[in-house]
Amino acid sequence: MTVELICVGTELLLGNTVNTNAAFISEQCAMLGLSMYYQSVVGDNAGRLERLLCTARERSDVIILSGGLGPTQDDLTKETAAEVMGRKLVEDKRAKQEIQACLEKLGHTITDNNWKQALVPEGCKVLYNANGTAPGIIIEEKGTCMILLPGPPNELVPMFQEQVYPYLRSRQPEVICSKMVKLCGIGESAAETAILDLLAERNPTVAPYAKTGEVHLRITAKAADEETAGSMIAPVEEELYRRFGDCVYTDDPDVTLEEAVAKLLESHGLTITTAESCTGGLLAGRLVNVPGISGNFKEGYITYSNEAKEKLLGVSHATLEAYGAVSPQTAAEMAEGGAKAAGADLCVSVTGIAGPEGGTQEKPVGLVYIGCYCRGRVFTEKKLYSGSRSKIREYSVASALTFLRKVILDETAG
Ligand code: ATP
Ligand code: MG
Repeated sequence: MTVELICVGTELLLGNTVNTNAAFISEQCAMLGLSMYYQSVVGDNAGRLERLLCTARERSDVIILSGGLGPTQDDLTKETAAEVMGRKLVEDKRAKQEIQACLEKLGHTITDNNWKQALVPEGCKVLYNANGTAPGIIIEEKGTCMILLPGPPNELVPMFQEQVYPYLRSRQPEVICSKMVKLCGIGESAAETAILDLLAERNPTVAPYAKTGEVHLRITAKAADEETAGSMIAPVEEELYRRFGDCVYTDDPDVTLEEAVAKLLESHGLTITTAESCTGGLLAGRLVNVPGISGNFKEGYITYSNEAKEKLLGVSHATLEAYGAVSPQTAAEMAEGGAKAAGADLCVSVTGIAGPEGGTQEKPVGLVYIGCYCRGRVFTEKKLYSGSRSKIREYSVASALTFLRKVILDETAG
């Protein structure tokens, strides 16, 4: 079954309103296993909407429309859809009663155009609206089904979840379920190479998505019901855990790398600080994305100059002279000095050359050292990135979080 989405509203074309309904409906249709091949946005114009509806009818089984069901002159979705489907508009008694009750409850005076919302195409299925006045509408015909939904997201979302989703579900014999496995500490090509056989499978499928310093793998199964799809996904997920081991930091699509790291800190009762040079506070910023991190993260240092590294972190002048600011020795002293200065169990340090200037033959732009101090021991890691200054800084932060996670896992193991 193919589905097409048409969002109606001049405010969407002008960029005044972000089209969140499109994102929501697309995601829901994907969950239902419906194939969506086309999406359009059209202004509040009857002629253009009519032409778009005629085209959509020829190429899609289900047409979902959002917006333009209100009481005013420029709300013309229902009138236009009824015309294209060859239906008269008739009054729906229950819709009329509900509109009256809703407006009275809100203390609004009822105007003549309010009754326009009680008109529905003859023979349609009415989706009553518990959160507003405009009812939704389903017009079914041989070959085509049109679903009209109100524009305001606080009306559209519950109407879709409570009425449209079950309706489409009953017409769609298959469901699509998916699961996300998120990896860090492994590059995109290495991850892909490790699962070439799984990438070739058709059902379930495994699809990799490269993120900055992370790879996300989505497992998707198509089946008669959710339970069957779940049982098809489980062995693939287990296989991914087996192949990627500690690189998997979560199987929850909503959990970020910093949240996974914060959870580790919390579960081991560890405090942390940051000592940043080229990332200039970005790393601390990622940690502070996590609500409740204050129990583990009290303070961080931005030590961009050599003087600051000496003054705030106690990095020795001799080390900076002998090895330079971008060196494993400096990264180690920054981490150790940061932990001591803050009285924290752990400290992650970052020092590197973000560019575009300042690179040399031995120390090119993109060279980054990460240090991690953990209860008396210091570890360092060397990284080399290419790209813009901001990309190098973002990658450095992802690597620092990944390295921190690895050190915590290693140091708390057994
Ligand atoms: P109303 O009864 O409020 O007129 P309606 O069904 O006629 O509702 P529209 O007039 O098209 O819908 O839009 C009403 C409001 O809903 C818009 O001002 C906007 O805030 C929001 N809205 C409409 N379409 C979308 C969309 N696609 N994504 C997000 N918000 C939207
Ligand atoms: Mg409107």
